[in-house]
Amino acid sequence: MSIRVGIGYDSHRFVPGDGVLLGGVTIPAPVRCTGHSDADAVAHAVTDAILGGAGLGDIGEMFPDTAAENKGRDSMAMLALAVARCAAAGWYPQQVDVTVICESPKIGPHRSAIRQRLAEVLRVNADATMVKGKTNEGMGWIGRGEGVAVIAVATLAEGPRS
Ligand code: MG
Repeated sequence: MSIRVGIGYDSHRFVPGDGVLLGGVTIPAPVRCTGHSDADAVAHAVTDAILGGAGLGDIGEMFPDTAAENKGRDSMAMLALAVARCAAAGWYPQQVDVTVICESPKIGPHRSAIRQRLAEVLRVNADATMVKGKTNEGMGWIGRGEGVAVIAVATLAEGPRS
């Protein structure tokens, strides 16, 4: 059985708001992320990780931010479409490991909910997902609380094309 690994990265800027959407879960905060879609940086990094592992390009190619249909779009729904595209090419996500880097909000209390949402969309068990929160120790743009960065690594296995 062939196994592949993909990596994804994303970042979004904070603006005043009422919660940060990460992995389909809104974490209460005095800010929100801004972007063309719903600005879900976890969904975007995981999408790039699976598309990259499958050799199928990237999220910007699949969902251009110049397309009106992608404005405000549900990024977990976009991830589901990327999962389907991988399956059509014979690649199935096996697990994903995600690191969220921001000074606040804290990710830990919401980890289980995010893992569950990722598992549903990736069609894996929740224990095949992980989400970790890190600060940037007060350094740089993340340290100043200007936004959030996310790194994701995904493993895909080859299977029958769907
Ligand atoms: Mg993004």
